[in-house]
Amino acid sequence: MRVLVITGAGVSAESGIPTFRGKDGYWRNLNPAKLATPEAFAKNPRLVWEWYRERRQRIRSAQPNPAHQAIVKLAAHTDEFLLVTQNVDDLHLRAESEGQRLSPDKIVQIHGDIFETRCSRCACSRREPEEEDSNLPRCTECGELMRPGVVWFGEQLDLRKIEQVDNYLTRPSCPVVIVAGTTAAFGYIIDLALRAQDPDGQLIEVNPDPTPLSGFATHLIREPAGIALPRLVDELLAR
Ligand code: NAD
Ligand code: ZN
Repeated sequence: MRVLVITGAGVSAESGIPTFRGKDGYWRNLNPAKLATPEAFAKNPRLVWEWYRERRQRIRSAQPNPAHQAIVKLAAHTDEFLLVTQNVDDLHLRAESEGQRLSPDKIVQIHGDIFETRCSRCACSRREPEEEDSNLPRCTECGELMRPGVVWFGEQLDLRKIEQVDNYLTRPSCPVVIVAGTTAAFGYIIDLALRAQDPDGQLIEVNPDPTPLSGFATHLIREPAGIALPRLVDELLAR
């Protein structure tokens, strides 16, 4: 079996990580879609760092939920599996099923990793999995401001990550494509799902609300991911 899974913020919602577009997405009355931009960082880097550090801290204390676990289970029983996630948290990587975790080569975090801190100018970067101080970080090599290692609205995706996804898509198409917890607001998410899907295969959307992808899906599961995915995975594995 060959399976592609695409996830978004909704999959981590049941772990207590707010989505951007949900009602608890706003931070201090600020819209995340405006904060997660190069313009916001240029204008007020201290404010943007404060928001990211709060989010990092919330993610550190969060636990993976049954949706993350179900995806690990599916990967363990699939010959050729790939997870493309827009989530910058590490919950997919920390989730376990039957004592196993997802191997890092089976996950592409296309919007980056929230725990990475990288230089705005040079190639310097570091990972900060532990709690940090509140200083504005500067690059030790070039002195420039450091920024979170995520893709902000209006920025390009990392070419190496696109390549990794493209490599997976050059082989025969997927009988099962699952898209869970994303508004699919970015055209490339819909494009990716459609490119991966076998003409006779299933394109399954898991989301309580309709999205621009819904019209293309062969199956719509209008439930929270933590409820729908464990059941869906068991059904797929029972076939
Ligand atoms: P989004 O905030 O735009 O949308 C969340 C989607 O999840 C919505 O369609 C909503 O209906 C759905 N949803 C909410 N609760 C759900 C649940 N329990 N089960 C299933 N679906 C549920 O998120 P997005 O589409 O991922 O795009 C937003 C951007 O924000 C991305 O670039 C992403 O990198 C970033 N982001 C990441 C995180 C994270 O890493 N956890 C959190 C917030 C935002
Ligand atoms: Zn630098």
